[in-house]
Amino acid sequence: MNKKDVVATLEKIATYLEIKAVNPFKIAAYRKAAQALEGDERTIAEIEKPQDLNGIGKATAEVIVELKETGRSNVLDELQASIPGELLSLLTIPGLGGKKIGKLYNELGVKDASSLLEACRQKKVRQLAGFGEKSENKLLEAFETWNTRPERLPLATVLPIAEQIEAQLEELQEVSRFSRAGSLRRMKETVKDLDFIIATDQMAEVREKLLALKGVSSVIAKGDTKISVDLTADNVSISADFRLVANDEFATALHHFTGSKDHNVLMRQLAKAQGEKISEYGVEASETGDVQTFKTEKDFFFHFGLAYIPPEARSANGEIERYETQPEDVYLDHAKADLHMHTTWSDGAHSIEEMVEAARGKGYTHTAITDHSRYLKVANGLSIEKLQKQHAHIRKLNEQYEDFTILTGVEMDILPDGQLDYPDDVLKEVDFVIASIHSAFSQSRERIMERLRAAVFNPYVHLIAHPMGRLIGRRDGYDVDVATLIKWAKETGTALELNASPKRLDLAAYWLKQAREAGVAISINSDAHRLEMLDYVQYGYAHARGAMLEPSDVINTWSLEDLRAFTKKKRRILE
Ligand SMILES: [Zn+2]
Ligand SMILES: [Zn+2]
Repeated sequence: MNKKDVVATLEKIATYLEIKAVNPFKIAAYRKAAQALEGDERTIAEIEKPQDLNGIGKATAEVIVELKETGRSNVLDELQASIPGELLSLLTIPGLGGKKIGKLYNELGVKDASSLLEACRQKKVRQLAGFGEKSENKLLEAFETWNTRPERLPLATVLPIAEQIEAQLEELQEVSRFSRAGSLRRMKETVKDLDFIIATDQMAEVREKLLALKGVSSVIAKGDTKISVDLTADNVSISADFRLVANDEFATALHHFTGSKDHNVLMRQLAKAQGEKISEYGVEASETGDVQTFKTEKDFFFHFGLAYIPPEARSANGEIERYETQPEDVYLDHAKADLHMHTTWSDGAHSIEEMVEAARGKGYTHTAITDHSRYLKVANGLSIEKLQKQHAHIRKLNEQYEDFTILTGVEMDILPDGQLDYPDDVLKEVDFVIASIHSAFSQSRERIMERLRAAVFNPYVHLIAHPMGRLIGRRDGYDVDVATLIKWAKETGTALELNASPKRLDLAAYWLKQAREAGVAISINSDAHRLEMLDYVQYGYAHARGAMLEPSDVINTWSLEDLRAFTKKKRRILE
């Protein structure tokens, strides 16, 4: 133990003695001893006889020597055993020290956070000497932020942390393969903790390097093959499990820890039917006990007569039946267009030219520029004149490109009274019209549906953006009857958006699947307000695989001709 640790231990003993409300002189003795050590220039090893120091008595000297020699203290151990463990955690609440906790414990019987909260609510705390009404209220306030790590965090919040870890894993020579697993790999909307599977034949080395990863704030557990840590970055904290496996176990371990649990149950039933057992280590033949391993998950699924099931679709929601054949899943590679993005004309950070070049660089053949309409003043929404000016500019810009088409567009507000923000004669001239609700979220379901109806049944509106209006983990959105919206969309040939911002993922997977089954066209868009946000579409395509969408369901994978035929058809239906 170094001097800093010894000093900290003496302070800890003093605090615990305060909680026990022992003789104040005894408490002061430990504080004085800590100060005396701190004030001395020498290291702890150089201080041979602590009792020679001014301020250190016989009892405290004995504790120091014991700490020096064994790294432990009987006095501390006994104190710790005599105080409820949860009471000690209250020391991390701002404003609570040993003395106050001692009072709460000895006079009110507070043992843990919940009994303290209860005592505050019953206004008992204010009656204690040294507390008062003010400090009771402060405690209640402190509780709101104290130790409130939410059960699950939005995907958008944890992705940057996961990506930071992955960038570091890439650099580790000893790692032969690694992958995300769990709900992170399945791209669920919210994630409880991060899971990684790592294949290596140098486990001991990898273990040490994992503990030293940037972002690790504390180590929860370190076993031979599993390491659990807390990761902290930008005020976000989440726990992470790293599982170390041998190379040939990687595929089955990855499948096992990707889940979902329900999906794994279905897979085990398949295995049982063919006389086998699945574990994280491989597939065991029940009769002989032989364990078979696989190079890839694809080989693993093939073993059970299935095509590769993408992680996002492993939800026990019909995937086993579906992947008995070889369905075509939708991937970002299929995308030919992004149909929702903003520029400096409204609240975007980049110019039309910059956004177009970036979209072109992604291999798209066309894109729509969809700035906000005039109602959205906070977003610098466009007046009719400005909109028309922008569209003239886009038509001109288009002349420069032989291999790329910029569609004129707009993200038009559906006003609180159900009016659309532009009249039909303006909309008529626009290639791609998105309609959105950005206001009056608290309206009744009837009012919200009237507004959406006005947009869906307008012949010049092609897409309803972020139909639910939710922000994951922050707000639920407005009260929308999605089933009816899907029905109307089908009836009128209007597309519904899968807004790919990881903050939104709107429509949610459940409704996407319903929309697909109803034959409604889906549009996966970035809603980018900056260049980097164009990459958000990858989360949208992952989310779409979770709903088992195929390329033909997604209008962004269509050729420009097919897209134009789609918008024309709606006019024919409704004009
Ligand atoms: Zn919007
Ligand atoms: Zn937008």
